[in-house]
Amino acid sequence: MTSPSPLVITKSAPESLTVEWADGKTTHMSAAALRRICPCAHCVNEHTGVRMLDPASIPDDLTQTDVILVGNYALRVTFADGHNTGLFTWSVLYEQAGAAG
Ligand SMILES: [Zn+2]
Repeated sequence: MTSPSPLVITKSAPESLTVEWADGKTTHMSAAALRRICPCAHCVNEHTGVRMLDPASIPDDLTQTDVILVGNYALRVTFADGHNTGLFTWSVLYEQAGAAG
């Protein structure tokens, strides 16, 4: 399985992120939705894979304050709540393509 590659990454609004993929699919997510799937060690137990973050604790109107490209494989998102340890890899973002939110 080849890794999906993004064509266009749009972060025009502080509360959402859009990624257009080479195969024509689009991932459009709110900052809150991204925060809820954050894969970092603070949000997901590294050993058990159990999500420790309560999705209900994330406000729907959360914004992101910064989005930067990490290497050529992921985005690091800084959220308004100060959380910035999550790396959202292309595969994680691609899995969300077409999902509501
Ligand atoms: Zn996290």
